[in-house]
Amino acid sequence: MLLPLPLAGAYDYLVPEGLEVEPGSVVTVPLGQRELFGVVWDLLPDDGRAASDGGGGKVLPLERLRPVIGTCPVPPLTAVARRFLAWVSDYTLAAPGAVLRMALSSPSALEPPRPVTLYRRAERPLPSELRLTPARRRVLEEMAESPARPLAEIAAAAAVGTSVVKGLEKAGVVEAVSVLREARFAAPDPERSGPALSDSQSAAAAALRQTIAADAFSVTLLDGVTGSGKTEVYFEALAAALATGRQALVLLPEIALSAQWLERFEARFGVAPALWHSDLTSAQRRATWRAVAYGNAPVVVGARSALFLPFPDLGLIVVDEEHESAFKQEDGVPYHARDMAVVRAQLGGIPAILASATPSLETLNNVKAGRYAELSLPERHGGARLPEISLVDLRSDKPPRLETPGGGQAWLSTALRAAIAETLDAGEQVLLFLNRRGYAPLTLCRACGHRLQCPNCTAWLVEHRLAGRLQCHHCGFSGRLPRNCPECGSEGSLVACGPGVERLAEETRVLFPEARSGLMTSDTLTGPDAAADMVRAVQQHEIDLLIGTQIVAKGHHFPQLTLVGVVDADLGLFGGDLRAAERTYQLLHQVAGRAGRAERPGRVLLQTSEPEHPVMQALAGGGRDAFLAAESEARREAGLPPFGRLAAVILSSPDPGQVDAVAAALARSAPRQPGLTVLGPAPAPLAVLRGRHRRRFLVKASRGFRLQAALLPWIQAIKPPSNLRLQVDIDPYSFL
Ligand code: ADP
Ligand code: ZN
Ligand code: ZN
Repeated sequence: MLLPLPLAGAYDYLVPEGLEVEPGSVVTVPLGQRELFGVVWDLLPDDGRAASDGGGGKVLPLERLRPVIGTCPVPPLTAVARRFLAWVSDYTLAAPGAVLRMALSSPSALEPPRPVTLYRRAERPLPSELRLTPARRRVLEEMAESPARPLAEIAAAAAVGTSVVKGLEKAGVVEAVSVLREARFAAPDPERSGPALSDSQSAAAAALRQTIAADAFSVTLLDGVTGSGKTEVYFEALAAALATGRQALVLLPEIALSAQWLERFEARFGVAPALWHSDLTSAQRRATWRAVAYGNAPVVVGARSALFLPFPDLGLIVVDEEHESAFKQEDGVPYHARDMAVVRAQLGGIPAILASATPSLETLNNVKAGRYAELSLPERHGGARLPEISLVDLRSDKPPRLETPGGGQAWLSTALRAAIAETLDAGEQVLLFLNRRGYAPLTLCRACGHRLQCPNCTAWLVEHRLAGRLQCHHCGFSGRLPRNCPECGSEGSLVACGPGVERLAEETRVLFPEARSGLMTSDTLTGPDAAADMVRAVQQHEIDLLIGTQIVAKGHHFPQLTLVGVVDADLGLFGGDLRAAERTYQLLHQVAGRAGRAERPGRVLLQTSEPEHPVMQALAGGGRDAFLAAESEARREAGLPPFGRLAAVILSSPDPGQVDAVAAALARSAPRQPGLTVLGPAPAPLAVLRGRHRRRFLVKASRGFRLQAALLPWIQAIKPPSNLRLQVDIDPYSFL
């Protein structure tokens, strides 16, 4: 029996007489004084005893085993789903129970469905004294031939208030019935026709349909420039998978920001898909989880955790924007959803499609090695041209100061200012991209040089002037901006250093007072609705000048946007991240792709102090292949992913002495094997996070090395004190 707890292995329970269970059954069991959900992992048929998988559960004599309490009214997890959970646990070195918890993420879904009240026409003639208002007549017409339906649905269909239906219930002509009903998502219609595809799109779509027809594991990279129609093309694969009657899963990096994607899905398939992301209410989670488990959700569109939903018959997985780092989960069980999607596809014997305009080196390397197939869409749809990208050298074109009180610091160069003015004059839209939330990334005392730092983290506090707060972007700490320097007490000596989007908006208001501007960051878009409203406002040209963080980079289609200005292209290029160059390239390419998506050509200005940097050269010259080749070569030489393997081991504790002692002990017992290097311990770049002191090891190994086998005995030999946390991150993407 596997319990959704961070325990080492499975537990043994007795199956009482008369209780029907099979491997995968979800049951309730006692543990200590508690009652828990668990999943039957294995059965020993001879004595009907649920047995551990040998993963560490002690073998107890039969008479000491406690019995299973009961089964939950949900379908058993399939063998593929269980193999997937076990695989993820083995790979990430997370306890199987911790992985199971991700699969049983909606505990209320495991309880029996609650009855809902539906209304139907009572089987009796209309009493003669019934007053038949037009509203009542409409309701009765609506209900005449129809089965029992929810109150709100009937009222909406008849265009009346619910009280009209209730009134008819009182009069005895309508009756309420209580039924158990499973949530069901309407079936998308795979036969509806999509847009007429271009030749290259048709060819790619046909190849993808082939992978569905092959009914076997495969991975295909759909590599197409932004605006080439990748979505339309993989919709064809979705249609083919749906036509076989199986389920399909689409993973998107920012599901909360995907309003346009959802509109297109509805336009293509006639209905909305099931959604899965962290903003769902618990009732929505429950309904969706059950609908998936019962096969009542043909298409699920979700964030990475959707991979752990209980699909009984998954036939296709699509990972859109496969290069996105949002697919990497950093806390809890660290895993990369793109990689685990490929594993899930392999275990299920089904195709996976990875789509991107800037595929990751990992994926390109798999294509090169022949493990993945590749389909290219080299052109934008409908003749739209790719934008012209040019570099603005900030060393020679220093942003001129503004004639405003307070020094008038500015961040827009003369060249970019001129381009903005031209674009606005032409009645077109501008996007200014700056990947920094808030007003200023640093606040400094002019008198003593003191910098305002988070009390819980090794990080500067970021001023958010709109909210009137200082915030830590790592732990969420928030406080008022003090009037006096907390260090030397000087009055009015604190000054903002550097730009954030809010400060940039201030600059554009001075330079372009006529332009209607909008701010798009995770602080201003506080939910899917706000995001959708903003996207609509830009599309309908209610906004001339949009200022945004990476949130705007993703997938939006703004036909009238013809200029993208990247305010600080170098941001993110430096720091200890092995993928810094690759990521900067991907992000800036993606942002640049927002320009000129329709008939009007677009242009992009990148402000940089490093115009010779290979990333800038690649962006300006369009030389993606040359850049990737150079980047690959550098990684290969350094033995870094995808040519070598990495794992991080992070220790953290509120007590710095304790974390150092455990780190030293781990360093002494570190595995010493050929092909393996253990670096560290070193204080993490974020040496203190949420009040915990952090030390890191980085483990490097050659590609074929069985990293997990070397790591497991090492970390398991340590019995950490209770307030020390040890986290293993296989294939780390964050090095903070
Ligand atoms: P990508 O995902 O490659 O950036 P999209 O699939 O978003 O590209 O397509 C870009 C735009 O072009 C979208 O508005 C889409 O509806 C449109 N488009 C793509 N292919 C076609 C087609 N064959 N017919 C009509 N419109 C298309
Ligand atoms: Zn001071
Ligand atoms: Zn903090």
